[in-house]
Amino acid sequence: MTASLSTMAYIGATILFILSLGGLSTPETARRGNLFGMAGMAIAVLATILGPRVTGDGVAYIVVALVIGGAIGLLAAKKVQMTQMPELVALMHSLVGLAACLVGFASYVDTSVAFTGAEKVIHEVEIYVGILIGAVTFSGSIVAFGKLSGKIGGKPLLLPGRHFLNLIALLVVVWFGREFVAAHDVSAGMTPLIVMTVISLLFGIHMVMAIGGADMPVVVSMLNSYSGWAAAATGFMLSNDLLIVTGALVGSSGAILSYIMCRAMNRNFISVIAGGFGGGAPKPKAEGGAAEPQGEVQPVGSTETAEMLREAKSVIIVPGYGMAVAQAQHTVFEITQLLREKGVDVRFAIHPVAGRMPGHMNVLLAEAKVPYDIVMEMDEINADFPEADVSMVIGANDIVNPAAQDDPSSPIAGMPVLEVWKAKTSIVMKRSMASGYAGVDNPLFYKENNRMLFGDAKKMLDEVLNALRA
Ligand code: NDP
Repeated sequence: MTASLSTMAYIGATILFILSLGGLSTPETARRGNLFGMAGMAIAVLATILGPRVTGDGVAYIVVALVIGGAIGLLAAKKVQMTQMPELVALMHSLVGLAACLVGFASYVDTSVAFTGAEKVIHEVEIYVGILIGAVTFSGSIVAFGKLSGKIGGKPLLLPGRHFLNLIALLVVVWFGREFVAAHDVSAGMTPLIVMTVISLLFGIHMVMAIGGADMPVVVSMLNSYSGWAAAATGFMLSNDLLIVTGALVGSSGAILSYIMCRAMNRNFISVIAGGFGGGAPKPKAEGGAAEPQGEVQPVGSTETAEMLREAKSVIIVPGYGMAVAQAQHTVFEITQLLREKGVDVRFAIHPVAGRMPGHMNVLLAEAKVPYDIVMEMDEINADFPEADVSMVIGANDIVNPAAQDDPSSPIAGMPVLEVWKAKTSIVMKRSMASGYAGVDNPLFYKENNRMLFGDAKKMLDEVLNALRA
């Protein structure tokens, strides 16, 4: 493939990536958006392999790497449960970071292209910054993976003087950057490069360890953004325009998403990045992670729940992480259809951070074929709860916690929540009294108009469905 044909292919791939992002902005066009993205990536990979920069044995090496990487990716995608998706995404971000680091070191030790003067400085700054972003993304994403999979606790790790430590690290990195660029040969530059890499790795760990449970969504989207910038930095190091453009697209869309998530959680972006948010001083939990009792809990059975739903004129369903765990979305839809046939107005209320990744609930409901026009965002529906006869919470906890509004000392204070308790009756479906991801007690469970339907969401909803059909 000639250089100009490969440039044409890159431009085509860039356009497809932009169309892909545009398509992903609404559920109706998301499938098309994904197809555009896949086509763009196929063109990009082919144009790179067949392009003028890959010669001789290079093609064979790339094909072997593609087969191995593709097989691992295919296997992982087939095996992964929907609830493990956020962890998989975090792991993938870490790979982008690792790739940026490896490409950085490889470009530095590769002396086949001799840079001189300003070109040398620019090339070395690209390498230094690329490895820095890559290392932070790599270690930060590994810790995020640990936190999302529950292998590392959600509580923020707050080192004494952590902002001071970060500042020192920054100054050291700048100082060694100067040393690196001033180095005359590769061996002299290697020490500052390795020191900076170690500091960046430690910074990535520190940054994500300091984030409190409820603020993890922001970190996930922030690492998504970092992985984009790491890819763009790799593009600069390899002089690959497509990687630069694609990386910038991912980096900026991730940054916008982080901003939107911060706004949704009423958090200050900088405070979340600086760490320590969402930790507060949570009240000690009772044994087994159960919340401290603050009143009377009123359990309810599936038949009684079905009765309340049948009698209602208006029902609002609030899905959360537990619905994803139980894979209850299809039963939820069957119940929805049945109630709508009986003339009940059924709508879904989606909190921006419900589940474990942005858009988690929308994906599940779309998979179950719930019509988009009854799926409402939090801002659209929150004012309607007082008019609802029943609000049915399926495996959600933090996103319906009134403590966010009532208790200024709560770690989730200030986070907007779905006001399910304002409905005439709220029914919370979960297995126990355990707290949610943020580890915070939920006073909703003890409210007078609240009922608890204990059990696995899928099992209980099957029972409710059977009772409705009877
Ligand atoms: P939560 O984690 O607050 O609560 C989920 C509840 O589901 C649990 O309390 C659990 O209670 C229940 N549950 C678990 N399994 C089942 C089951 N099989 N059947 C029935 N219930 C079940 O989830 P929410 O969706 O309310 O809130 C999301 C939380 O995750 C927020 O704190 C958010 O900040 C955080 N987060 C969100 C991300 C995102 O991007 N959306 C990313 C990372 C974190 P029990 O054990 O008693 O059944």
